[in-house]
Amino acid sequence: MSDKYNSHIPKPNMRFGKLTTISRRKGYSKTYWICKCDCGNEMRKVARLDLLNDIITQCHTCNKKTMIENVLNNSVLIPLNELSNQ
Ligand SMILES: [Zn+2]
Repeated sequence: MSDKYNSHIPKPNMRFGKLTTISRRKGYSKTYWICKCDCGNEMRKVARLDLLNDIITQCHTCNKKTMIENVLNNSVLIPLNELSNQ
């Protein structure tokens, strides 16, 4: 295994987006990580590949917040005159 590959293996205290890995635990077929989000929430079952592939980068609460913020931001981008023409 090269150093580059090794550096991508999650270790305790690694950052993935807003998440920091705390400790590893074995599941049935996968290894899971307990992670702590920047907001203070703990996630108890994050799959290693989800971390490595940037699929999970924050907790569910922050995820929801981001989704709501995206919706709000997008709605601001609709020009007002377009709305009144409908
Ligand atoms: Zn969070």
